[in-house]
Amino acid sequence: MSKAKPDLSALSPETRLVAAGRDYAEHGFVNPAVYHGSTVLFPDTAALSSRQQTYVYGRRGTPTSRAVEEAVALVEGGHNAKMLPSGMAAITTALLAFLKAGDHLLMVDTVYQPARHLCDGLLKGLGIETSYYDPLIGKGIAGLIRPNTRVVYAESPGSQTMEVQDIPAIAEAAHKAGALLFVDNTWGAGHYFKAFEHGADISIQAATKYLVGHSDAMMGTVTCSKETWEPFRHAYEEMGQFAGPDDMYLTLRGIRTLDVRLERHMKNALNVAEWLRGRAEVETVLYPALSNAPGHELWKRDFRGACGLFSVVLKPCSDKATAAFLDQLQLFGMGYSWGGFESLAVPFKPQRTATRWQPEGYSLRFHIGLEDPDDLKADLAEGFKALNSAS
Ligand SMILES: *Cc1c(COP(=O)(O)O)cnc(C)c1O
Repeated sequence: MSKAKPDLSALSPETRLVAAGRDYAEHGFVNPAVYHGSTVLFPDTAALSSRQQTYVYGRRGTPTSRAVEEAVALVEGGHNAKMLPSGMAAITTALLAFLKAGDHLLMVDTVYQPARHLCDGLLKGLGIETSYYDPLIGKGIAGLIRPNTRVVYAESPGSQTMEVQDIPAIAEAAHKAGALLFVDNTWGAGHYFKAFEHGADISIQAATKYLVGHSDAMMGTVTCSKETWEPFRHAYEEMGQFAGPDDMYLTLRGIRTLDVRLERHMKNALNVAEWLRGRAEVETVLYPALSNAPGHELWKRDFRGACGLFSVVLKPCSDKATAAFLDQLQLFGMGYSWGGFESLAVPFKPQRTATRWQPEGYSLRFHIGLEDPDDLKADLAEGFKALNSAS
């Protein structure tokens, strides 16, 4: 006995997180099974030669992969999605699916650093030219688009310096020139930024961050519009992409609680960011959700919420003082990635070629986790004590 199914596309974003991809569960269980499988058997030679059955080979899809793909596509508001073993694999596969020798790629200057290395290394070697643009360029991007510009790539906000991009203006200019717009949507997690409603043709996520949400698995997602789906799907299959079944399951599990986690990350991050803004040691807090912060107006216009990732520029102090601050912190771990339940702090020095980023003080990136923000502030206060006595 199964109950009537809701029309998923009519549901609110919060309900989508809970209802999406549920058709693949069997025997009355709420969740789909984790299928570990390569070979899929065919009942007879006729079925083998026609290949007309739902599942034909592990890499071509399992009930586990279909469930999570459907859920991601519904959360993002795209046509269909594919899962890849990391966010970086998602970026690489999406770009290689649409770029060929002689093409030009317009890449945002604030892009995730390993993606910059891809453009300046592998893509360059294949005869694909990349030029970088100012994240705040908005509709001015039209002046940089060339006849051979195939893809314009955005990441908003930039995951270190937090510039919010005018995605609708960039989408309009790209489409007018016949180019596609890709968006790295990891910060908005597909839930707080609806990339397709704002004109994206492809939305990419490091699901390693908020979809997985527990710092225990790596995953990438590429969600496509109807027009980009078939070419992307072919490239994905030709490149032999897929992802591990347990990690796909963990991604689907993470999606169920995405709304409540993000809501708390935002509440805690606003609390800590506001407190940091009042500290004498802090020059600027770069968190678009904070009133009067850079990018706040665009964020308010285009985003439904904010995650727990923001950055801070300190007032000038010595290397020793910054190190003393970071080394003193007990609740903030020092390490890469973000989007898990735990708080993190790392210093950063962004690589730029189209714009400049040279504040006088140190730049630090914080991920605010699900701890009590009062405990986090007390930890940071101890860090500032250490900073001041080391100066
Ligand atoms: C982490 C990250 C990636 C890469 O994801 P991995 O799963 O680590 O490969 C891509 N884009 C952004 C914005 C990220 O923060």
